[in-house]
Amino acid sequence: MVRSDGISRALDLAREAKGHGADLVEWRLDSLVETEGGIRAAVRLIEESPLPCIVTVRDESEGGAFGGGHETRLAAWHAFASASPPPAYIDIELAAMHEGESSRAFVASLHRGSVAHEGRARAILSFHDFRGRPPGLSGKVSEIWADQSVAVAKVVWTARTARDNMEAFELLRLRAKPTIALCMGEHGLMSRVLAPKFGGFLTYARSDEHGTAPGQPTLHELLEDWDFRTITRSTKVYAVIGYPVAHSRSPAVHNTWFRKAKFDGRMFPVAVAPMWEAFKATLGELIACEGLDFSGAAVTAPHKVHALDYLAEVGGKVDDDAAALGAVNTIVRGTDGSLRGMNTDAGAIVEVIEGALASSTKKRLKGARVLVLGAGGAARAAVYGLAKAGAMVSILNRTPKHAKQLAKDLAGDLGEIAVVSPGHLPKEKFDVIANCTSVGMTAGPDPEGDPLPEGVALDASTLVFDAVYAPEETPLLARAKRCGAPTLGGAAMFLAQARAQFRAWTGSAPLP
Ligand code: NAP
Repeated sequence: MVRSDGISRALDLAREAKGHGADLVEWRLDSLVETEGGIRAAVRLIEESPLPCIVTVRDESEGGAFGGGHETRLAAWHAFASASPPPAYIDIELAAMHEGESSRAFVASLHRGSVAHEGRARAILSFHDFRGRPPGLSGKVSEIWADQSVAVAKVVWTARTARDNMEAFELLRLRAKPTIALCMGEHGLMSRVLAPKFGGFLTYARSDEHGTAPGQPTLHELLEDWDFRTITRSTKVYAVIGYPVAHSRSPAVHNTWFRKAKFDGRMFPVAVAPMWEAFKATLGELIACEGLDFSGAAVTAPHKVHALDYLAEVGGKVDDDAAALGAVNTIVRGTDGSLRGMNTDAGAIVEVIEGALASSTKKRLKGARVLVLGAGGAARAAVYGLAKAGAMVSILNRTPKHAKQLAKDLAGDLGEIAVVSPGHLPKEKFDVIANCTSVGMTAGPDPEGDPLPEGVALDASTLVFDAVYAPEETPLLARAKRCGAPTLGGAAMFLAQARAQFRAWTGSAPLP
């Protein structure tokens, strides 16, 4: 948004953006044109613009700051079109076209090229809804497509869920003329980054200082983190599905590995409300979306059981570990459309604990005495993996009933799994203590807490593992260090399970 005292700064930012690789700049002149001399200042901005530009005077009714009358805006458009050189595009709202003959006549004049001195400005006809999906969406888009005097159609709305991105992609696929279809807000990122995959006319990025729509990535994020220039029609798409999911490190980790491996894939955070119906509908739409090349997902809380149920319902294949655990954290979709569910958590816990135990205490996991704290999803993976690897596992949980149920669920082939009651701590020493509760986790139920009761011996012969990875050093790990015990943080497990996912999706290990 450019103000009258900000013209020089705006031009500097545009030069910077050009240096970083932007192709176009949008000048948002909403309030500028309402000020004394504002239209003249706007024309200067257009004429000195270091990049071809789109000029926009967005009305308050569509999320902008322009509150003036139709005549002011019409005068501004005419002045813009007469600039030398004129802007590449003038963004005009569909609603303004409905307001009167003068808007229509102006857009028609752009089409005929009769008002520009050099080259000519073209019309982008747009509509925006900040509240959600606009009513009559397809009818409005069809109206713009049918208007011969309009160069580009633009529709932008706030995504209610990730599923709205699929509708934006469909509009791009079916476009009858160059089209911009983008979703705003936390759920809309996919539509912004993947616009070139579906032939979108452009996407917007913001400078570090200014943004005009919620959810817009910065130019740096778009070009560097998302490697936007290399996105093609065949880019494979992955999701990390959870709720909440914004904190997940999976997209950053996998996108970095994809880039290093020159693997044409991108992973997006996809927040899906906790219910089974929401999970089923979202995964179903990702799979069905034509041209998306949806190739897999990392599944996190609270959807790991839903993922297993989904695969059972559609006849997908489920690996033995995932079936035994009753939880899928990885979905692989083959190019033939086949679906496979895996669980990489159990193997990752075993891999990292086995390695750390050998290097710190020279002990083997087979036969080691392990105390697992917790009885939730992470504990289930730990108990299963460690018992399968031959460790003697005991479970201690705040709610003993949950621990007993877990031991009962996993007993059988894994042999006896002991349950320790919080009131009767064992005198024996453990070779490994593994925290799989969320105690000690930043923003968790008890961030300052330590889940290991006083009285459990800790010294150099006991490896202490904490599945929590934020913070890096939890209160439990700090206490273990004070007692001289070797420690292992949750980041090691996270990376090990992510490496296994990467191998499943790409066929090779991530490069260091
Ligand atoms: P979950 O299924 O919700 O289980 C939570 C467990 O924590 C339950 O056993 C629960 O006990 C216990 N708990 C919660 N609040 C407690 C409190 N105030 N005092 C004592 N116990 C408490 O969660 P999850 O998926 O297993 O995840 C657990 C932790 O592991 C999380 O911090 C998660 O971030 C981490 N994790 C890390 C990785 C990794 O790759 N490093 C992977 C998965 C999970 P009750 O049964 O009594 O409710």
